[in-house]
Amino acid sequence: MCGIVGAVAGRNVQGILLEGLRRLEYRGYDSAGMAVLDESGSLERRRAVGKVAALAERLGQSALPGSVGIAHTRWATHGKPSEANAHPHQSGDRLAVVHNGIIENFEALKADLQASGYVFESETDTEVIAHLLDRESVAQGDLQAAVQRVLARLDGAYALGVMHAAEPDVVIGARKGSPLVVGVGIEEVFLASDPLALLQVTDRFIYLEEGDVVRLSRGE
Ligand code: GLU
Repeated sequence: MCGIVGAVAGRNVQGILLEGLRRLEYRGYDSAGMAVLDESGSLERRRAVGKVAALAERLGQSALPGSVGIAHTRWATHGKPSEANAHPHQSGDRLAVVHNGIIENFEALKADLQASGYVFESETDTEVIAHLLDRESVAQGDLQAAVQRVLARLDGAYALGVMHAAEPDVVIGARKGSPLVVGVGIEEVFLASDPLALLQVTDRFIYLEEGDVVRLSRGE
């Protein structure tokens, strides 16, 4: 097991995401990472092998200011623990994905994407989700609809968090086979694998059901 934290807020979320990851450490993991959309709308990412403290140290050297973000602790299933395999995974410089679980049909999807010209930077199954989303959202321009089309192509278990610079106030979550909960604050919303991660910011939760897709936007 491992963990996801996400946030769409009106304040800097780096500290909230980091504290959320710390509270998910009990689930076991081998690396950690975070991506945020900064004030200028560009996507920035930091990742580190080892403890959340190593990611915190990286953020201490080079902060990630931004009010929308996703973060992850990874328990490697496909590819060794390494910075390149740590989440979030990106397709290009505008889309980021965090994933808990396993995509069973990733080899066929990877071959299909490579044939379309996508170049993989990790050994993970997760990276296929990023490139599939890129292909879909570039084509359609609606992130939630793109996530729903991509989910229809995935076999396996997942909890997901997705964000795209084209929709800078939005995080999409999805759940099938791994837990995911929405935390509702005042004018801000959060996502996590366990409500424990979010008790620092809210005590109001919506537990996602199997197959749910959720769109978090500022205050909604
Ligand atoms: N299968 C993915 C990977 O190996 C996600 C593992 C996890 O649940 O952390 O990167």
